[in-house]
Amino acid sequence: MSRAVRATINLSALKHNWDAACAHAPRSRVLAVVKADAYGHGAARVAGALSGAQAFGVAGIDEAVALREAGIRAPICLLSGFQESAELPVMARHAIGSVVHEETQIEDLQAARLDRPIAVWLKIDSGMHRLGFAPAQVEAAVARLVAVPAVGELRLMSHFANADDTADDYTAAQLKCFLDIAVKYKYACSIANSAGVVAWPDTHLDWVRPGIMLYGASPLLGRAAVDLGLQPVMSLTSRIIAVRTLQAGDPIGYGGDWVCPAATRVAIIACGYGDGYPRHAPSGTPVWIAGRAAPLVGRVSMDLLAVDLAAHPEAQVGTPVELWGAHLPVDTVAHHAGTIAYELLCGVTARVPRDTLA
Ligand SMILES: *Cc1c(COP(=O)(O)O)cnc(C)c1O
Repeated sequence: MSRAVRATINLSALKHNWDAACAHAPRSRVLAVVKADAYGHGAARVAGALSGAQAFGVAGIDEAVALREAGIRAPICLLSGFQESAELPVMARHAIGSVVHEETQIEDLQAARLDRPIAVWLKIDSGMHRLGFAPAQVEAAVARLVAVPAVGELRLMSHFANADDTADDYTAAQLKCFLDIAVKYKYACSIANSAGVVAWPDTHLDWVRPGIMLYGASPLLGRAAVDLGLQPVMSLTSRIIAVRTLQAGDPIGYGGDWVCPAATRVAIIACGYGDGYPRHAPSGTPVWIAGRAAPLVGRVSMDLLAVDLAAHPEAQVGTPVELWGAHLPVDTVAHHAGTIAYELLCGVTARVPRDTLA
């Protein structure tokens, strides 16, 4: 038994989105990004369903080892890189590769004595200025890495800062910066995230690295996922557990921010920020009930939220609701809450049971 809130993971939607990514980039290999528990969808479940993926990307070693323990055999890459030398023997044992973005990582690799070499994705900072070697440092970094016995296959990668904005020419500038370096080598190259896959075909290169699009949220500013042919994978659902009729002037919830303007029928729903629903979602954020949206009213609390049932006379205790998912895009809820779908999907908490829909 559990509370009514649950996240249903639709694997056929996931496979549909995977096919869409492959269709966008037919000549590229695909590294499916499953970091942060596959953006909250369950990394083992998602990786297990994406049997066509040539590789998986995670943030760190614990996520990678968990995939191996779940029986995932494809190559895995640590997208934030290994963080201490003690990880290297574990990576060698489990055939886990890594992004290398820092001098100290090269030193760790030089000092390592491993049974098997590790695949390395050398990260070039093409303009995001977060991780990666500056263009002028790349030649020396490559020269050092190729001389290290612990380094197996070497590849070059970079990451976009603004590719979600199709009007921003920074993406083209980053691509040029990356290619100006990459053309000097024969190594396989990768720079495209989901936005690159969908909107910037010149960025596809040898490997693409889609994340958010696989989960059916939009990678592009101002473009709905459905218009990009993507299907929502996670549906966060719950039920109405109380229906109240309140009077004009009655405040609802903590702080009493929202006051009934007139006699109002209100539903209390078993879902709150303790489940990962954003506390800062304002009154007016849509909640899907019986085929149409009802507005959130008052502050979201840990286990509960309230909606105005003015347009839902048939709703009653037990009526199912969708917080986001198949009917209500997670992008829409994120937009109301002043955040992005990535944060909402990753933020669904451990107490929410995940159901799998084949
Ligand atoms: C998370 C991540 C991706 C995937 O980005 P999306 O915007 O979710 O497609 C790709 N590459 C790297 C290095 C990442 O960290």
